[in-house]
Amino acid sequence: MAVTIDGKQIAEDVVSKVKASAAELIEATGVTPGIAVVIVGEDPASQVYVASKGRKAKECGFHSVQHTLPEQTSEDELVKLVETLNADPAIHGILVQLPLPKHIDSGRIIQTISPDKDVDGFHFINVGKLGTGELETAFVPCTPEGSMLLIDRILGRDLSGLNAVVVGRSNIVGKPMFNLLLAHNATVTIAHSKTKDLPGLCRNADILVAAVGRPQMIKADWVKPGATVIDVGINRIPAPERGEGKTRLVGDVDFADVAGVAGALTPVPGGVGPMTIAMLMANTLVAAHRSAGKTPPR
Ligand code: NDP
Repeated sequence: MAVTIDGKQIAEDVVSKVKASAAELIEATGVTPGIAVVIVGEDPASQVYVASKGRKAKECGFHSVQHTLPEQTSEDELVKLVETLNADPAIHGILVQLPLPKHIDSGRIIQTISPDKDVDGFHFINVGKLGTGELETAFVPCTPEGSMLLIDRILGRDLSGLNAVVVGRSNIVGKPMFNLLLAHNATVTIAHSKTKDLPGLCRNADILVAAVGRPQMIKADWVKPGATVIDVGINRIPAPERGEGKTRLVGDVDFADVAGVAGALTPVPGGVGPMTIAMLMANTLVAAHRSAGKTPPR
């Protein structure tokens, strides 16, 4: 049976280190790490994510502000708010919750965020730094960064000689995951909906990262025995066994099936999900250290 990678516990460890380091920074410099979370509209899932980010920031001892804007907010109004936050010395990290309403160009908003406060790592400057291996000064997107930490706990930082396959090529998960694995010396293949013989490709992977958004797509016979499997997917499916109209969360990996073959495997929920918020806190702490002229913690 595969080892279940306890993302919840590892995320708690990250958060308690962030909390301790934030207290040291405040003591040494008087700078309190500050994060601003901006949400536009009333998407219920986004509201849950934003609330939990705010709670975690408070837990870390951060200064945390939330801007909740109505659905009909114009793109120019949102740009103005981001510019105000860019100029606010009490704010070190800015997160604009995606997706934004359709009438707003998300790309324009993301590129308005100062790269120094872009704790989501979506600005072209940070994307370029990750792509060119400038990891020391980049902000890396939180979900792949958290996934990488889970891989690190199982296999260590140097992935020399290991084959990694990332399924999914989105800008927020798949592509940055590809670059991070490459930066840690893995031999990486990225797959997507046009890939031929996906099961065969996955069977070659010592490290398999699933970021697809298809419930339980990856089965035991896609997985190399002993592989480390990271399931980024979060999918809500009907769960009639829990009562009429009930649902439950599952990943892109068929956990029960793959657990019989993999060496280590993340559960959903409780795997990558908690790591994403923990890394957002870690990135905000780094931003605060940089703004105070201090070396960020590693
Ligand atoms: P996207 O929809 O942006 O990308 C999905 C990727 O999967 C695309 O590259 C797509 O290929 C590929 N794909 C779709 N169907 C198939 C298929 N049948 N075979 C192979 N590849 C396929 O999703 P995201 O990257 O934003 O998210 C992926 C999953 O991760 C979702 O379940 C999401 O909810 C979850 N997620 C979890 C987070 C967390 O904190 N744990 C954070 C962010 C996302 P193509 O490019 O060809 O269309």
